[in-house]
Amino acid sequence: ARYAGVAALVVMAALVVIMFGAANASLAEAHRALKVEMAERERAEAALLQSQKMEAMGQLTGGVAHDFNNLLMVASSGMDLLERTEDPVRRERLKDGIRQAIERGASLTQQLLAFSRRSPLQPEVIDLPAQIEGMGVLLDRSLREDISAEVRMAPGLWPIEVDPAQLEVAMLNIALNARDAMPNGGKIVITAENVSDYRDARLAGDFVRLSIHDTGVGVPKENLARLFEPFFTTKGVGQGTGLGLSQVYGFTRASGGTVSIESEVGQGTTISLYIPRSRKIAPAAPPPSKAPVAASGRRKVLLVEDDNSVATLVGEMLHELGYGSTRADCAQAALEALDREGGFDLVFSDMVMPGEMNGIELAREIGRRRPGLPVLLTTGFSEAAAAATADGLRLLVKPYRIDRLAAELEATLAAR
Ligand code: ADP
Ligand code: MG
Repeated sequence: ARYAGVAALVVMAALVVIMFGAANASLAEAHRALKVEMAERERAEAALLQSQKMEAMGQLTGGVAHDFNNLLMVASSGMDLLERTEDPVRRERLKDGIRQAIERGASLTQQLLAFSRRSPLQPEVIDLPAQIEGMGVLLDRSLREDISAEVRMAPGLWPIEVDPAQLEVAMLNIALNARDAMPNGGKIVITAENVSDYRDARLAGDFVRLSIHDTGVGVPKENLARLFEPFFTTKGVGQGTGLGLSQVYGFTRASGGTVSIESEVGQGTTISLYIPRSRKIAPAAPPPSKAPVAASGRRKVLLVEDDNSVATLVGEMLHELGYGSTRADCAQAALEALDREGGFDLVFSDMVMPGEMNGIELAREIGRRRPGLPVLLTTGFSEAAAAATADGLRLLVKPYRIDRLAAELEATLAAR
């Protein structure tokens, strides 16, 4: 009986060992299954997000294509009419229309780029009142005659550090919404003031609050939470893209701030941007460059650009600014032109080009072959822009206007 007891114990022990092993094995099995399931789920979620984004983009394309068609229409028929008319008043009006169409196109692309996060933020310490004043014309032109605008800037505003172009786009988006909210006319008031020790759930500190108030229709409660959602719009096809406020939100968040909305149906709406106070000092405002200043003497630029129409246009701008230029359509061609022609004062090159070398590599090669020959790069892609600035290269972000080009060329020559 004693042996029987021992045997039973041994059997039980063996059973326990076997069961434990089995439990262990099934635990590992379950763990593995869970991991597979998690990976599967992550993949599915990523795919869903991507497909939602694609669908949104698809919906958007229709609206944007429509908008672009209209403004291209305005610009191209405007040009036709411009060629046929001598009347100076009509010519001015036509030119205004064309300029407006182009501005609308530029702001649409800005929004699209910001949406797909390819537009680089280039923060600068800015003088807010001067910046807002500089927007006067643009704002005036986008509002109607039955809407009045007032600007109230508190004295002694703290400096802020933001991308001035993005700030302009944001202000324009807000102003256009205010206009649309006031079909029978009304008033827009833009105010700016310092707010010390502001805090919300995420932020705390000193901020400059930039508010835009309108006396429009207001936002119904049920829509308030959705206003910043990309593609949320209450406007008809071809009227709204639903991207305006999502740009405003993206821009202020990326600048370290936040946005708030107050609205009362039938009373009006106030949108406030809180932008963090910068400890840096705003540089003295450069003298306003009304007309582009021609460069002294005739300097020669090697223009490297693969796109024919862009190259023609930039060639014209350079000519207008008093520079001579030779064009190369890729980095290799640029190096050949440098060997062949010589006498260049500056190389102005696109960054993303077909061929073996991109703009950065070209700049490096020029640095080796011709140290002292200044290079200015240009791109609209944020990845490329980040790479160039990381390399300490001079960069002009596309799209740019002629006075920005003039200033950058001068600065690049001066830095030599
Ligand atoms: P969109 O203007 O293309 O519709 P936005 O993102 O700029 O896209 O705005 C989203 C929506 O928010 C608008 O369609 C409108 O319904 C509402 N909205 C924005 N600003 C105002 C405002 N100032 N007053 C009333 N409604 C507004
Ligand atoms: Mg809008």
